[in-house]
Amino acid sequence: MREVSYFAPTEVGEAVKLLAQHGEKAAVLAGGTDLVAQLNYYEIKPSALVYLGGLDLDYVREEGGKLVIGAGTTIAHLLTDDLIAQKFSVLAEAAATHGSPAIRTKATIGGNLGTASPAGDMIPALMVMDADLVLASSKGQRTVPIQEFFTGPGETVRTAEELILEIHVPLLKGKAVFKKLGRRKAQVCSIVSTAVRLEMDGGVCKDARIVLGSMAPTPLRCSKAEAMLKGKAVDAALVAECAAQAVAESTPIDDQRATAWYRAKAGTALVARALAEVAGI
Ligand SMILES: Cc1cc2nc3c(=O)[nH]c(=O)nc-3n(C[C@H](O)[C@H](O)[C@H](O)COP(=O)(O)OP(=O)(O)OC[C@H]3O[C@@H](n4cnc5c(N)ncnc54)[C@H](O)[C@@H]3O)c2cc1C
Repeated sequence: MREVSYFAPTEVGEAVKLLAQHGEKAAVLAGGTDLVAQLNYYEIKPSALVYLGGLDLDYVREEGGKLVIGAGTTIAHLLTDDLIAQKFSVLAEAAATHGSPAIRTKATIGGNLGTASPAGDMIPALMVMDADLVLASSKGQRTVPIQEFFTGPGETVRTAEELILEIHVPLLKGKAVFKKLGRRKAQVCSIVSTAVRLEMDGGVCKDARIVLGSMAPTPLRCSKAEAMLKGKAVDAALVAECAAQAVAESTPIDDQRATAWYRAKAGTALVARALAEVAGI
């Protein structure tokens, strides 16, 4: 049997010191809803577990024109938080589709980012709001735009010595929605998901964000489709064209949940539905 040291720091400084000491051999443990399964199946074999539950990172605040979300904020908290409901409702919509009540009670937003699954449900909502991630290490802090964080399935620019401390979300204008299609309605990984945000001036689109989940190695921002909308009057024909372009930018795969063919068809319909809803057509 292998020995694994367990640490439960109560201060961020202590946590990052432990990560600096143990480096690649350490695993950060938050709610454990992904990590414990990986440990049980020996997919990872850390010699040190650094539990973040004692760091008081479960908070949502408004500061300087943005929302500041602690990485330890549970999905259940996001669902019931007044600030999130009023100012970032697309995140609450995504949270409502996450797992089951039991999973949402333990799972954290930082863990969703740390797992870096192309199907992570919090990620498209954070991407349409141009969120920034604050990473902390023993050397200090750095801020990474969420667009630059993911490098592949399960891979990010975070080093072994860093933890995700906070998520900063500018209070951008416009309306945003999240939609998810799975093989059933709950406790399910997405076949395809999307978040879109449009800033409209009358019927004309001033700014747009379109993000697809489960359609590429990382959650995908569809910049060519976004460009098609900017400065244009949004009608049903443009929505259909734009949804097709968004999916054309993706690289869906066949897997146990769906074929690439089905993902492309369903993704086009899902993006079109989301765009029509936010454009009010
Ligand atoms: C039954 C079930 C249903 C699920 N349903 C969904 C779903 O519908 N949608 C969805 O998106 N996910 C789902 N998941 C996956 C999981 O719940 C989420 O990814 C969750 O957000 C992970 O958070 P956690 O706190 O449990 O992370 P953990 O399991 O503790 O950690 C996950 C990863 O992130 C790293 N990590 C955690 N916190 C930090 C941090 N602050 N800094 C750096 N690294 C960190 C860990 O080292 C690990 O690599 C489901 C899981 C289960 C078991």
